[in-house]
Formats: sequence, C-alpha cells, structure tokens
Amino acid sequence: MTYVIGETCIDVKDKSCVEVCPVDCIIGDDEDRMLFIDPEECIDCGACVDPCPVDAIYAEEDLPVEWQEYTAINKEYFHDRDAARSKVAVKVAIPVEPA
Ligand code: SF4
Ligand code: SF4
Repeated sequence: MTYVIGETCIDVKDKSCVEVCPVDCIIGDDEDRMLFIDPEECIDCGACVDPCPVDAIYAEEDLPVEWQEYTAINKEYFHDRDAARSKVAVKVAIPVEPA
C-alpha cells in the first residue's frame, strides 16, 4: 500500500505535505505541475493527508474512482519522469474555493 497524490494538487503544489513527511518521499521539481509520492519509500503513516489544503492525498485503496490513474502516475514519476509529466500536462486544474 501507499499514499497517492491526486488531481487537486495540480497547479497548487504548496508543499505542506513535504514538510511533514518523515521519510522525504514526496517529490517534485519546479517544472512539475504537482508533487508525487514514491510508493517504494512511503511508510503509509498518513501524516501528509490533513495538512493538504485541497484534499489531494489519499491512501491508495481510498482514492476516488475518478483519480484511479494517479496511482500509476505517482509511481511512474520515479521511473520515467517525462512520461508522468506528459500525463499531468494535459490535465486542467480544478478550481479551488478559498477556505
Ligand atoms: S503517508 Fe507518510 S510516508 Fe507516505 S507520503 Fe505521506 S507523510 Fe510521507
Ligand atoms: S499539500 Fe496537497 S496541494 Fe500541497 S503539494 Fe502536497 S499534495 Fe499538493
């Protein structure tokens, strides 16, 4: 099992999750539109879920149906960044209402 970052992170990317991850497995470069969780490093602690302002992070088995592809996209990023980026590049960011 792992945690997965989904669509609402796109173009938000505030990195609140990065600050709390105990194993530094949430990664993204400046050119990325979102961040990604390395499924081989994630220890399933769940610490990143609550700090996310846009509810982008879910345990893999709880991921919303419409975001199922993000399990593979998060994983792919750590093997083939360009392939993962190209899948994210076509996404339209979801407008987020201010809290
Ligand atoms: S569940 Fe824990 S280990 Fe996995 S990405 Fe979130 S904070 Fe990091
Ligand atoms: S806290 Fe949420 S929106 Fe911010 S970078 Fe992490 S997953 Fe993306």
